[in-house]
Amino acid sequence: MLICAASNNAGKLKELRRILERMGHQVKSLRELGVDLDPEETGATFAENARIKAEAFCKASGLPTVADDSGLCVDALGGAPGVYSARYAGRHGDDDANNTKLLREMEEIPTEQRTARFVSAVCFMLPGGRTLTVEGECPGSIAFARAGTNGFGYDPLFVPDYVGLPGGAVAPNTTRRSYAELTDAEKDAVSHRGRAMEKLAAGLPAFLEGSKGAATAPPAF
Ligand code: IMP
Repeated sequence: MLICAASNNAGKLKELRRILERMGHQVKSLRELGVDLDPEETGATFAENARIKAEAFCKASGLPTVADDSGLCVDALGGAPGVYSARYAGRHGDDDANNTKLLREMEEIPTEQRTARFVSAVCFMLPGGRTLTVEGECPGSIAFARAGTNGFGYDPLFVPDYVGLPGGAVAPNTTRRSYAELTDAEKDAVSHRGRAMEKLAAGLPAFLEGSKGAATAPPAF
């Protein structure tokens, strides 16, 4: 299926593209489709924001669209930065400032209280407005310093509890590598986005089958 991978975040787009292509889909980015939009993320939850983005980009592209809203929830910070992950330090998408702020906020927090989880809500929308929304999580903890250069966002500070192995299995992250020290495959097998996309792949056939008659229903847009 030809799918619009709807993200203005280059790191996230790269992951969405590689996971969707591995699932056998053809992917177009917003740039490739000439869509230049930045919808306001006014939702209180990841799922609400994923839907807001999916709807805006699906309308603009006219294609089945996948949008992700994601973030880091740190237990010692009461779940922050959460839905505000992209703009934690003030400026949207300033990864370096966000990581610096997170390290500062966590300065006094001991190892055993540094637990966190990444969450991804993925909303798949068909032109006409039907949606399938799924969520994935990845448990882990916040390191005391940045490590690694792969990935984006908070990757250098997030140490997942598990990492992927060749062949699709997962194993405890005994060497405590950060997301940014993992290969693409090691991250995708355990990551919040990888998990959400696995659920999307599992739910998509039944959703598409159920959407066949929906063409006769009045379109939502
Ligand atoms: P969104 O575009 O509002 O969903 O922003 C999500 C923000 O969460 C990003 O800007 C990153 O700071 C962070 N984030 C989400 N997923 C990841 C990831 O896989 N690695 C690192 N940071 C992430």
